[in-house]
Amino acid sequence: MTAADPTPALRCASRHSGPRDGEECGARARFEISCHARPPLLVCPQHLGPALLLADGVLWPPEIRLVR
Ligand SMILES: [Zn+2]
Repeated sequence: MTAADPTPALRCASRHSGPRDGEECGARARFEISCHARPPLLVCPQHLGPALLLADGVLWPPEIRLVR
């Protein structure tokens, strides 16, 4: 990330293969999932499904917002 980039893209916070995977996905986040009592979850399209089903605190029915 450089100072020349005024609007850094939000990055997917999901792990590649599960919560214990130390490596973050890092893909550009496209969705924000509202969570109960915690900050919203930023995910890429690939991780939207897994995050909805597996992440802690996801509201049901899910509240999803498109981010750019
Ligand atoms: Zn991802």
